[in-house]
Amino acid sequence: MRTVLILGGTGEARRLAAALTGGGFRVISSLAGRVADPVLPPGEVRVGGFGGPEGLAGYVRANRVDVVVDATHPFAARISASAAAAGVPLLLLRRPGWTAGPGDVWHRVPALDAAAAFIARSPFERVFLTTGRQGLGAFADLADRWFLVRSVDPIAPPHPPRLESLLDRGPFSVDGEIALLRSYTIQLLVTKDSGGDMTAAKLTAARRLGLPVLMVDRPPVTPGVPVVANVEDAVTFLRTGSGGAGGG
Ligand code: NAP
Repeated sequence: MRTVLILGGTGEARRLAAALTGGGFRVISSLAGRVADPVLPPGEVRVGGFGGPEGLAGYVRANRVDVVVDATHPFAARISASAAAAGVPLLLLRRPGWTAGPGDVWHRVPALDAAAAFIARSPFERVFLTTGRQGLGAFADLADRWFLVRSVDPIAPPHPPRLESLLDRGPFSVDGEIALLRSYTIQLLVTKDSGGDMTAAKLTAARRLGLPVLMVDRPPVTPGVPVVANVEDAVTFLRTGSGGAGGG
């Protein structure tokens, strides 16, 4: 039986654990331990950092892991870099990013601090921030704007001084997102390019209301790591050892 270590914290990671469990694999899912009440995948679960690439490599050896699947969030750049540097057999499961369609008014920025600079230059006073509670410090100096901040867990300083915190976890509906944007008279939506269906309703809602979107680009992936875009392709890769693109 092959042992798969899934670096998780995403819906794909949970679905991959479910798809592999009982299918001839021993599955260990790894969570960072950031979220107070995580949705747990089926199978074995371990929680907490490994201690960098060396720590991860040591864990892989000690637990006789045959392959590591990096199914972490596209913005969890440190753990992905760590997995790529650990010298272990690795598959990257990375959902595609979002693309703008007709009617979308998107502005792309390379990182959160660039998003804050964009807002500072813009006329928008009421901003819906859906980039998560980590990184809120990038917006802390924007004292002349008001923010609606949505996150899974409570926020902590540093953060912008004028805000309302909304604790919620997807999936969200288009109707619900439209009602939210309207009730707070939001003028700009800020989001990471997370991709996937779980939180995409806000983009449809923004399009229908004619609202601009500030889209924060993903950090780059390590070149050379085989990559698949969905759980089905990850299962095929793990069963047959093929199907992944070569990385970019
Ligand atoms: P990060 O900045 O890339 O990672 C920071 C450190 O946390 C890593 O160096 C690693 O510690 C540890 N870590 C992260 N993910 C881990 C995992 N799955 N298992 C064990 N250790 C892990 O990560 P992050 O952005 O804080 O995200 C943390 C977790 O939340 C990830 O599992 C990610 O999938 C999930 N998540 C992140 C976002 C986001 O927007 N960033 C959104 C949704 C879910 P060591 O170096 O000590 O190993």
